[in-house]
Amino acid sequence: MTLVFSGNEYKYEIEGIMKLFIPATRFKTVFSDTVEEDKDFVFISVKEHDEQLLLSITADHLGKREVREQLVLKADDFDAELLLSKLLYRAMSEITGIKPKWGVMTGVRPVKRVNRYIDAGLEYQQIKELFKREYYCSEEKLDIAYRTAQVQRKIMGTVKEDSFSLYVNIPFCPTRCSYCSFISQTIDSGKKLIPDYIKLLSRELEYTAEISQRLGLKLDTIYFGGGTPTSLEPSQLESIMQTIEKSFDLSTLREYTIEAGRADTITMEKLETIKRNGCTRISVNPQTLNDKVLEAIGRRHTSEQFYKAFSLARELGFDCINTDIIAGLPTDTLDSFERTIEGLIALEPENITVHTLSIKRAADLNYAENKGEVLKNSSADMVDYASLRLTESGYQPYYLYRQKNMLDNLENIGWSKSGMESLYNIFIMEEIQTILAVGAGASSKLVDLKGKRLDRIFNYKHPLEYIKHFDIMLEKKKEIADFYAKEK
Ligand code: SF4
Repeated sequence: MTLVFSGNEYKYEIEGIMKLFIPATRFKTVFSDTVEEDKDFVFISVKEHDEQLLLSITADHLGKREVREQLVLKADDFDAELLLSKLLYRAMSEITGIKPKWGVMTGVRPVKRVNRYIDAGLEYQQIKELFKREYYCSEEKLDIAYRTAQVQRKIMGTVKEDSFSLYVNIPFCPTRCSYCSFISQTIDSGKKLIPDYIKLLSRELEYTAEISQRLGLKLDTIYFGGGTPTSLEPSQLESIMQTIEKSFDLSTLREYTIEAGRADTITMEKLETIKRNGCTRISVNPQTLNDKVLEAIGRRHTSEQFYKAFSLARELGFDCINTDIIAGLPTDTLDSFERTIEGLIALEPENITVHTLSIKRAADLNYAENKGEVLKNSSADMVDYASLRLTESGYQPYYLYRQKNMLDNLENIGWSKSGMESLYNIFIMEEIQTILAVGAGASSKLVDLKGKRLDRIFNYKHPLEYIKHFDIMLEKKKEIADFYAKEK
């Protein structure tokens, strides 16, 4: 498929819309006023026309051709990218018969948008109209975004301006899952790096604590992610958590999460260690309760191991447990997914996060090569089933986000029993609190709500780079103070 741009360069946005309709396609990009191809192309044109601009799309695909045009006044305030996206959406819907439920919302955070409209005083009906008119978003998706916003708003009101969250990245896993797109090393290949990594991570934690204290910031939540933090030995976890306890003032802390993640890393000793050191919330993630699917995705643990890890966590007194699952895993079926949902509901975890498979380039599960297998699944039905049954079982959606390349252009939704929502997940998604992040691959997000400013500081991605260039990276952390200085 060739995309020909004339008078504009909205490549990123246009490709995003095209992927809603033909996800596993590679696009050739051409900048030209003419089209050489006679089929399988889209011509995206912006042309001056006196006081007006003519925006037009000609889409040729599957032997059908559709043309959509719109004239706008040059003087008007309009978003050409969005208008072209809408023209393209209409043309491609006509050709393929597909109507993606989130409409043209590709780079937009739907819940953030809903929150903005509610802040502006709009009612549900008005927001629904706007979502439909501006983004071609379905009522079903608007409804879930709206419900999510309602739950979030109670929590967002509790965020103090001088508060921050701390994110700690542990980029190691026991083995690599086939769908993984994170930079994570297997424990075996990263073994030699781990002692140095922990030493430097501790230095970064101490330095971050110093900065936050100097700025008068109060620690609100802590989140250990990765990777799989529980890939580390109990003594290593103890050492990192002790560094946190000694360096930061924890008197204002409201939540302390550790993604235990994979059941094959969870032992009584590790759980006791993290509980003793203040962790209040953990994730134990089955992804699916179907052993055959677990095997197909290279997860290397069984559902029985998950059940054991879950009950161990309960026995040790963890009263807020999250379980992650994924809709659309290769070889999974709707029936088997439904059994996973029912199995989890029976366990009554406080949080259940339903992801949709997102296949990125970094994953071993190559998108294009596996498209036949991966795309022929019922991920949309799976997500619908999860929403229905979780709602019936008393869970509420409390955070929602979308990524590129998600099957069927779906979403990830965190569900929670009332009052058990993870604060950190809301803060990071809605960008309403500064997150100071440490470790390889971590990125700090600096938020100034009053000044409406947002800045990011990226750490080196790979553990080896992190170790090698540690001092340069630490130097970059001075930007945190610069950011807050501008605020004053
Ligand atoms: S456990 Fe998570 S981070 Fe680790 S390999 Fe699997 S998907 Fe990637």
